[in-house]
Amino acid sequence: MLSEFDLIARFFTRAPRSGGPVALGVGDDCALLSVPPGETLAVSTDMLVEGRHFFAGADPEALGHKALAVNLSDLAAMGARPLGFTLALSLPSADANWLAPFAQGLLALADAQGIELIGGDTTRGPLNLCITVMGSVPAAMALRRDRAQAGDELWVSGTLGDARLALEVMLGRQSLPASDFERAALRLHRPEPRVTLGLALRGIASAAIDVSDGLLGDLGHVLAHSHVGAVVHADTLPIGASLALQPAELRREFALNGGDDYELCFCAPTDRHAAVLAAAAQAGVPVSCIGRIDSEPGLRVLDAGGRAIAVASRSFDHFSHS
Ligand code: ADP
Ligand code: MG
Repeated sequence: MLSEFDLIARFFTRAPRSGGPVALGVGDDCALLSVPPGETLAVSTDMLVEGRHFFAGADPEALGHKALAVNLSDLAAMGARPLGFTLALSLPSADANWLAPFAQGLLALADAQGIELIGGDTTRGPLNLCITVMGSVPAAMALRRDRAQAGDELWVSGTLGDARLALEVMLGRQSLPASDFERAALRLHRPEPRVTLGLALRGIASAAIDVSDGLLGDLGHVLAHSHVGAVVHADTLPIGASLALQPAELRREFALNGGDDYELCFCAPTDRHAAVLAAAAQAGVPVSCIGRIDSEPGLRVLDAGGRAIAVASRSFDHFSHS
């Protein structure tokens, strides 16, 4: 059995890249991280708990990826450039067969994003993965959720709903051909944080949020913070490739209320329409214009004929049920 310090040294300690923002990484009482002059630190924490966010026995490599990806998604939604992250890890045992693939999934995404693990904490206990990411952004360019303006167009990146579809299959509530399930499960287990898109939208988007708990619920946060309302055209929602093969009612429900999509939902003035498309092309991520912000409070979902659809936001709330 590995000791706590062996475990940290073996799986989580790497020399910081020279010339990067990390002056001192894992091993001291604190890490030392520099923020580019004129920018502000952007900080976010997200926790993944076994039995709550993932099933017992989940693939550790995918968990490593997802734990960091969901945190990077928050930086993306702020238009922040990632600098580094810490990892607070609670583990039932120091099992190298679990730790090696977990570290591999985690650090592969860190390398792909050019950021470093700079510290953390390790303790024995129920499996719990808590990451804090740090990034930077010029404060005036941060994509805050309280800055949507009536008249803005409403956009979403990528596609929605496949992660929820995969979850429903895993819970035994839907069934799919294996290839459709595998494609949807990739969206659930290996979300790709839209960091490049968030950066490209600086100075273009007025407000943004990442879609983690379902489009309607997350958009609802933007509307509440910005004191505006919105119209969403249900027929313009970008539907995940596997969900697209499902009946219309399921498509709409999972696209609107799915969860675990980790796409960006953002607003931009109408006269920035072409700039949004150019930013998306530059980032290599498709975007869809799905509606408009208006001054009348509330969220109206319309069908292709312009008729209102009754939809409930069933955004995930950890304390709303057991
Ligand atoms: P302290 O007692 O000073 O809090 P710890 O013994 O908890 O230090 O950790 C020793 C060093 O290892 C610190 O630099 C800490 O940031 C780092 N560390 C601990 N756990 C992890 C982890 N899971 N991932 C990365 N770094 C870690
Ligand atoms: Mg400690």
